[in-house]
Amino acid sequence: MAYVIDDNCVACGTCQSVCPTGAISEGDKYSIDPDTCISCGSCAEACPNEAIHEG
Ligand code: SF4
Ligand code: SF4
Repeated sequence: MAYVIDDNCVACGTCQSVCPTGAISEGDKYSIDPDTCISCGSCAEACPNEAIHEG
């Protein structure tokens, strides 16, 4: 299952910089492309706001 970003996202960009597959896109809040995410968990570990969870 791909990881997902919830409403706690404050758009800091940390997750995007650690994602090895480029699955995370910028916006008002960041989002993860489920087809590109390999569920490595790096983004969830790096997020300062606990906004990323396993889908
Ligand atoms: S690291 Fe967390 S708070 Fe920062 S952009 Fe990603 S999901 Fe949002
Ligand atoms: S779980 Fe890994 S591959 Fe999926 S969005 Fe997060 S850092 Fe990228």
